[in-house]
Amino acid sequence: MKARSRLYRIEGIVLSRRDQGEADRVVRMLTADGIVDLLAKGIRKPHSRKAGHLELFSRSQVLASRVKNSWDILSQAEALTVRRRLQEDFERATYARYIAELIIRFFEGETDVQLYNFVDQVFAHLEEVAEPMRFVRWVEPRLLTLAGFRPTWDMCVGEREDALCEAELHPQPSDRRPYGIDPAHGGALCPNCFKAHREMRAVQQLSPSALSWLQAFQRREYEDVRQYDFPSQTAVELSHVMEHYIVYHLEWRPSILTLMQELGRRE
Ligand SMILES: [Zn+2]
Repeated sequence: MKARSRLYRIEGIVLSRRDQGEADRVVRMLTADGIVDLLAKGIRKPHSRKAGHLELFSRSQVLASRVKNSWDILSQAEALTVRRRLQEDFERATYARYIAELIIRFFEGETDVQLYNFVDQVFAHLEEVAEPMRFVRWVEPRLLTLAGFRPTWDMCVGEREDALCEAELHPQPSDRRPYGIDPAHGGALCPNCFKAHREMRAVQQLSPSALSWLQAFQRREYEDVRQYDFPSQTAVELSHVMEHYIVYHLEWRPSILTLMQELGRRE
């Protein structure tokens, strides 16, 4: 019986790849209309014409054919943009892999043009920015928002005595009492709510400096936040805070986080 096949052309960004069989590879691509897995046959053979067009994080135009009950087969690929630095620079490659993992886990099949264009710009900037880790902190709240998990950092998400607190949060360096983070309620806690809820499983302490940086990353353009001195202590705290927040919502810990924490300690 002949498999029904139909040719189609799509543009996508390569999020991950894994080897299949002896010479093939399954390429996972983000498109404006979903995340697709395509089988690139013979791509690991020397002189494969497809190989250079399907590098990680590159944006490519591909021709594929639908296959019933299997991966669609990718027959041609043409790279539109190759992100060389995201392959060759270890630190940038690590952050790019992290962003790709978040996209795969958070969006699965539900993507759109807005997400697609955003991810394309994120990978473009990740090649250029002076401080990739700081840039990733700016990217995270935007991805969370697109995924429907927009964190609330401006207002307390706590509840006390059966009423929502909703206190406006204006962290100051002179604040004596810590704030909190509560991923279950989707944001930050004022010092009073943190004190009341600190025994709860997902609640963690948050310094005033970390909270004001979370607010800045969410509200401001990257051009703006990159100009301020980003204390290394706050950077380390934020990498743990965002890991906690994201892992809570994904219910899964991206393996790349271990490597990122190591990078964070080295910086
Ligand atoms: Zn509160």
